[in-house]
Amino acid sequence: MSRSPDQIIRTEVLSLSAYHVAPASGMVKLDAMENPYSLPDRLRDDIAQLVATAPINRYPDASAASLKAMLRAALAVPDGMEIMLGNGSDEIIQIIALACARPGATLLSVEPAFVMFRMIAAFAGMKYVGVPLKADFSLDIDATLEAISQHEPAVIFIAYPNNPTGNLFDARAISRIIEAAPGLVVVDEAYHAFANASFMDKLLQYPNLLLMRTLSKLGLAGLRLGLLAGGPEWLRELEKLRLPYNVGIVTQLIAEKVLQHRDVLLQQAAAIKNERAMLGARLAAMHGIEPFPTDANFILFRLSEAGHVFQNLKKRGVLIKNLDGTHPLLKNCLRVTVGKPDENALFLAALEGSLA
Ligand code: PMP
Repeated sequence: MSRSPDQIIRTEVLSLSAYHVAPASGMVKLDAMENPYSLPDRLRDDIAQLVATAPINRYPDASAASLKAMLRAALAVPDGMEIMLGNGSDEIIQIIALACARPGATLLSVEPAFVMFRMIAAFAGMKYVGVPLKADFSLDIDATLEAISQHEPAVIFIAYPNNPTGNLFDARAISRIIEAAPGLVVVDEAYHAFANASFMDKLLQYPNLLLMRTLSKLGLAGLRLGLLAGGPEWLRELEKLRLPYNVGIVTQLIAEKVLQHRDVLLQQAAAIKNERAMLGARLAAMHGIEPFPTDANFILFRLSEAGHVFQNLKKRGVLIKNLDGTHPLLKNCLRVTVGKPDENALFLAALEGSLA
């Protein structure tokens, strides 16, 4: 008699729930931190040409050398640092966790943070420690340093700005964490395009620092391209776990083409930042709504009866993210991604209607 899945699959996998992606067909989609703007028609035509002639019968360039060279320049990766590409930054988190998963090794992050840090620790069979943020979502530096000395984590993940809270942590506190860490610290700058801060230049100062970026929030979520920058002594080891053709030819070609027109993405990010200011001010002016400060392309806000309002918004065709119940600090919190002006107006009207 063959065994059932619960006798074969690892217990930590059995106890996970799969990452939930809400169906969004026909909705105003403001749940997933996507860039709402499409590319200009000319650029789309160029991409169509590239795709039409792409040699998809061949494996892609496994080293993605020309794309990496373009990314290095576009992101100002310091000389002497290596880069590794992932099928989205999710895959890079997984590669790092797999590489660090010695028996008993710990992955540490703060909470609430990006849920994949905790999930991927489980995928890799690592212990996970989540240090609670303070009630205002700032780093609890004393508790974090204490947890570092107690658990000696092999790797620490910090999102800068943080998801789902949207704020940038104090840079000095992050530096203290990097200095205290016995292992790697990965600063995840997925939302860098919307914040005026980065640890990129700190790579030269801290040999245990790795810096992660993604093109997803910039407007290319569908391509799946993430990037890790750091010292060659680390990246050489991590490269061994990267599957040879993890970044497909179509992704490579389109990313290169769009990077030649980076100004388009940066203009879109600037428009999103303007809309963010408008949306934040409108939310703050609404009775009973408390928006939190954000340096990302989304806004976390608290209100009473969040679950009820979330369902009401959905009935009105607007999909955002309900975080109530995911962490004690997120009680009655919802998260809205900044959309186009008309989408934001629809959201605000639906929210007003849902509160009434
Ligand atoms: N890091 C953070 C902080 C995120 O919020 C996300 C996406 N929600 C990711 C990484 C993953 O992005 P991707 O895999 O699309 O690059």
